[in-house]
Amino acid sequence: MGQTDSTVRVAIVGAGPAGFYAAEHLLKQSDITVEVDLFDRLPTPHGLVRAGVAPDHEKIKNVTRVFDKTAARDGFRFFGNVEFGRDLALADLARHYHFVCFCTGAQVDRSLGIPGEDLPRSHSATEFVAWYNGHPDFRDLTFDLSQERVAVIGVGNVAVDVARILCRTVDELRRTDIADYALDALAESRVREVMMVGRRGPAQAAFTLPEIKEMGELETASARTLAEEVTLDPHSAAALEANPDRATTSILDVLQSYVGGSRPGAERECQIRFLLSPVELIPGDDGGVSSIKLVRNRLEPGRGGRISAVPTDEFQSWPAGLVFRSVGYMGVALPDVPFRDDWGVIHNDKGRVVLPDGARVDGVYAAGWIKRGPSGVIGTNKPDAVETAECMLEDWRSGIHFHPAAGDIRSLLDERRVPWISYADWLRLDEMERERGLSQGRPRLKFTRTAEMLAVLGRT
Ligand code: NAP
Repeated sequence: MGQTDSTVRVAIVGAGPAGFYAAEHLLKQSDITVEVDLFDRLPTPHGLVRAGVAPDHEKIKNVTRVFDKTAARDGFRFFGNVEFGRDLALADLARHYHFVCFCTGAQVDRSLGIPGEDLPRSHSATEFVAWYNGHPDFRDLTFDLSQERVAVIGVGNVAVDVARILCRTVDELRRTDIADYALDALAESRVREVMMVGRRGPAQAAFTLPEIKEMGELETASARTLAEEVTLDPHSAAALEANPDRATTSILDVLQSYVGGSRPGAERECQIRFLLSPVELIPGDDGGVSSIKLVRNRLEPGRGGRISAVPTDEFQSWPAGLVFRSVGYMGVALPDVPFRDDWGVIHNDKGRVVLPDGARVDGVYAAGWIKRGPSGVIGTNKPDAVETAECMLEDWRSGIHFHPAAGDIRSLLDERRVPWISYADWLRLDEMERERGLSQGRPRLKFTRTAEMLAVLGRT
C-alpha cells in the first residue's frame, strides 16, 4: 500500500455484496484517497452470490461483474482464506487500518424450538443451500434424498429455492453451476412430494412474485395450493383494502391459479400450504423423522397491525422423511464486537458499532445482514452499505477513527503463515471453473475444497 497521511485505510471483513458495495462507495470518492482491504474466510469472494443464490438463478449472479469492477479500482485488495478471529483479531486490524467494517452476513439458521427438530433427516435450509452451492464447510454433508415426501417449513424465498431445487429434473439442474456432488445426489433423488408450510396466510407469505410464479413453470413438477387456504380471510382483505399492494394481489392471483395444480399429473408436486405450524417432528422405526405434526392456525390482527397466526385445537399429521426448516437466518457473534443475541446482529447505529448502552465503539462499523438482519434482495445491501460508508467518511473528517501505526497487513499474514488468496488468484480460479464446466456443457464446475483451490494455484 502506498499510503500517505491523507490516505484512509479501511479493512472490510466479509466479501459478500455488502462488503463490495461498501468498498465501491469508499473507493469512488474523488476528494479523498481510500484504500480498502477486503477479507474473507473463504478463498472465494462474493458471499451469498456464490454460496446462497440458487444455481438455477444464473442471471442474479451477473452482479459479480459489478464486484469485479470494484476489485479493479486502484486501492482495492482482496485477502481470501483469511478468517477474522482465527488469523486476525480486532486489535491487529486496529493497528493497520483507520476503520474496520464487518459485513459477515447471517450464517446460521433460526430454529423452530419444537420436539424432534434435531432428529436425523431434519436439517436447516441454510445447510442444504450451502451444500448444493459447493460451500467448502458444507460440501461433506449428506441428505437422504431417497425419501419421497419432504416438508419445507417457512414460505420465504429460501424455502422456495429449496423446494424448486428438489422439484427440478436432473436435466434442468445440469444446465446450472450446482456442485457436481449435489448434481449426482439429486440425480438419484426419489423425492415426489414437497410440502412448503406457511404459518400465516397467503397474503403474509414472504416469497416474492417472480419466485412463486417460477414454481408453476417447472418442466415436470406441479405447484398446488388448496382453495380454502388461499382464499383471503377478512382481516387480510381489510388490511389490503386499507393499504392496496399490487405485489401481494398478484401473489394471491398466482397462488389461486395453483388450486388443483399448475401441471396436474406431473412427476413431482410442490404443495404450498398455509395456516399451519409444525408442532413436532415424529421419528420412525429407524430413528429419523418420518412425519410432521401440524396445528391449524387462524389469523388475528396483532400488535402494530401485524396479522398473526393463532393456533387452534385442530391438528394433522403429514408423512415426511426429510424436513428442512427455512424460517430465516441469524448472524454469528464475532470476537470483541458487541452483538445482539436476540436479533443476531452487531449492535449498531446506522452502521456505527455501539455498545449495549449506546456508547460508540470508535473505528468499528457494520453493513449488510450483520447490521440490519437477513432481509431484502442483493441490491438492498447497496444503500445499506453506502449509509455505513458515509458514516466512515463523516467520522474521518471529524477525526474519529483508529490511528494505525503498523505497515502492510501482508507482513503480519505472512508472519502468521496464512495462505491468502488475492483477487487475481480468484480470477484464475474463476477461469479454471468455467473451463472445467465447458467440457460438460455447464456454466462452471466449482472447486469446493479449500485445499484443492490452494493446490491448483500452486500454494501447497
Ligand atoms: P424470510 O423471507 O424472512 O422468510 C422466513 C419465513 O419463515 C417466513 O415465511 C416466516 O413466516 C417463516 N417463519 C419464521 N419463523 C417461523 C416459525 N417459528 N414457524 C413457522 N414459520 C416461521 O427469510 P428467507 O426465506 O430465509 O430469506 C432471507 C432473505 O433473503 C429474504 O429477504 C429473501 O427475500 C432473500 N432471498 C431472496 C431470494 C431471491 O431474490 N430469489 C432468494 C433467497 C433469499 P412469518 O412471516 O409468519 O414470520
